[in-house]
Amino acid sequence: MAAKRDYYEILGISKSATTEEIKKAYRKNAKKYHPDVNKDDPSAEEKFKEVAEAYEVLSDTQKRAAYDQFGHDAFDPNRMGAGGFGGFGGADFGGAGGFGDIFDLLFGGAGGGQRRRSGPQRGADKEARLEINFEDAVFGIEKDMEMMRVESCRKCGGSGAEPGSKPKVCPQCQGAGQVRTVQSTPFGRFETVRPCGHCSGEGKIIDKPCADCKGKGRVKKKRHISVRIPAGIDTGSRLRIQSEGEEGIMGGPPGDLYIVIVVRPHPKFQREGYTLICNQEINFVQAALGAEIEIPLLGGSHHKLIIPEGTQPGDVITVKNKGIPYLHSHRSGDLKVLVNVKIPTRLSKRQKEILAGFFSDNDEKEIGKKGLFNKLKDAMG
Ligand SMILES: [Zn+2]
Ligand SMILES: [Zn+2]
Repeated sequence: MAAKRDYYEILGISKSATTEEIKKAYRKNAKKYHPDVNKDDPSAEEKFKEVAEAYEVLSDTQKRAAYDQFGHDAFDPNRMGAGGFGGFGGADFGGAGGFGDIFDLLFGGAGGGQRRRSGPQRGADKEARLEINFEDAVFGIEKDMEMMRVESCRKCGGSGAEPGSKPKVCPQCQGAGQVRTVQSTPFGRFETVRPCGHCSGEGKIIDKPCADCKGKGRVKKKRHISVRIPAGIDTGSRLRIQSEGEEGIMGGPPGDLYIVIVVRPHPKFQREGYTLICNQEINFVQAALGAEIEIPLLGGSHHKLIIPEGTQPGDVITVKNKGIPYLHSHRSGDLKVLVNVKIPTRLSKRQKEILAGFFSDNDEKEIGKKGLFNKLKDAMG
């Protein structure tokens, strides 16, 4: 089997895409590759399945977090054991049922929003972006965040009715939250089910709405939470904070909060995975003769960098173990120092004479050989 493509790549989105962006990208791609509009392109169906699979994972906050951490292995039943999410082997996108639910998405079917809530429900997951400094991403930090989240109204206990009063069963729908209408048309009888307009699909009527939540039973509350950022995290990483999503309905469990990390750039350092990269300027004498210089490291410490004799502009000096710490590990990547050799623009008369001496007829033969450096050494004393 060919290597599986990256889900983000399939949908054409970045790793830090929001839920809304994922949904949008899915709609776009699903429309493009839908088998009904690509009857003469047999490869479209494969692409369509790929898009559907990518969406299934990335639209589910838990699956997405697992995919971000483990890649496709997260869904490989052979590798993840019982704790994994299981494969997609059983999914049959070819049948009518498989394509069916896509129409809901494309053309805005009933969706979840209008369904009447009955019984306890888990609170919705929430997503938030958190911008952190480059150093904090490298070394880890504890961050305080202020979040708004939806909670059950404390005053009315979530019923929406002022304490002392009770919500009444909606007389229009008898508490069902939806009404059926039957229409006779020349093509037959059609039954449609719509949310009840009298109670807005809630199934109950509140005569005296609670003053705190205006009868909604839910209020937005500010909340302080402390987030531990592990060392080695990068832009696009998602942290799951359990139970910090929206509160459940009617005693249901709360949702989770997912924090998408955005790392601010550093003026001196860049990173590529776990490799830390920096530029270091040296002068041409240091390049030619070799030198030992102090370079600043992230976090305020220093490192004695050995510049080997004969270092060329653009050479990269690798310092083992001074890069980004691996997530949840004591090991680190490497630091790569990209050397820039500065050529002086102002020289004294004596310096000019010394330099001019190197490129006399005799010396030119030695350029490119070790001899040049010995000559330089002699000249510089
Ligand atoms: Zn209330
Ligand atoms: Zn009703």
